[in-house]
Amino acid sequence: MPELPEVETIARGVAVSVRGERVESVWLSGRKQTLNSPPRAIARTLEGARIDDVHRVGKHIVFELSRGGDVPPPKKEQSAPHPQFIVHLGMTGSLTVVPADKETAKHTHAVLKLSSGRELRFVDPRMFGKLAIAKDRFRAPGHEPLDVGAEAFAALFKRTKAPIKSALLNQKLLSGVGNIYADEALFRARVRPRRRGTTLTHAELHKLFEALQAVLNESIKAGGTTFSDYVDAQGEWGNYQFDLRVYGREDEPCVRCKTPIKRIVISGRSAHYCRKCQS
Ligand SMILES: [Zn+2]
Repeated sequence: MPELPEVETIARGVAVSVRGERVESVWLSGRKQTLNSPPRAIARTLEGARIDDVHRVGKHIVFELSRGGDVPPPKKEQSAPHPQFIVHLGMTGSLTVVPADKETAKHTHAVLKLSSGRELRFVDPRMFGKLAIAKDRFRAPGHEPLDVGAEAFAALFKRTKAPIKSALLNQKLLSGVGNIYADEALFRARVRPRRRGTTLTHAELHKLFEALQAVLNESIKAGGTTFSDYVDAQGEWGNYQFDLRVYGREDEPCVRCKTPIKRIVISGRSAHYCRKCQS
């Protein structure tokens, strides 16, 4: 499942590929499961719109749309409400920008015909992904992990009685942090995943904040290659050389102390940690 750095990488890749394009027409498979807005609203909003930018909000990919000429609207108008096209990739969703004559893949649920003659396609075999339209500034439910300050971060987690690992995954607190980066951040901060937020000291919360920022930024850097006409989950983020220290390393030696990494289950999710380095 793509987490924040992967979604960021995909959003950047899509942005490079489609910024400035106009959407000429839209085809939707009509599978309700993949739509959070009525299909007619999605088509009406997209058709004829110009894609001014694409960026990430939480784990959502947000397309900023405008109507009118080929130049971006003046600053004054930019602050006015403007429609957005929101894509959530779910577990298996991907966005590709391909020539129109490329064969349509199985499980394609949306095709946006672009003014350059290419197509932006949304493919999702398991259909946990979602497409939607937002009327105005779209917000994810939780704080943006890369924008939240150290003090706000500490305030969020020191009140929570849940295990810190679960709290990091709670999308109402932070948007976009998943299993991999939560485990990695806890390892770097030397905090055990089962510790309750209320038991963490201010210093530990601060270390955890720094660790999470570091793992997310390093991963974005590693996955942040620019790709101009093919944006594919498997193809592109499979390449990034992020150095995982605990996630998926059960029974392998800890990179710091050689103690075998332990895997436990907390609220139905696996957690990996070193019982010597983390307390
Ligand atoms: Zn260790």
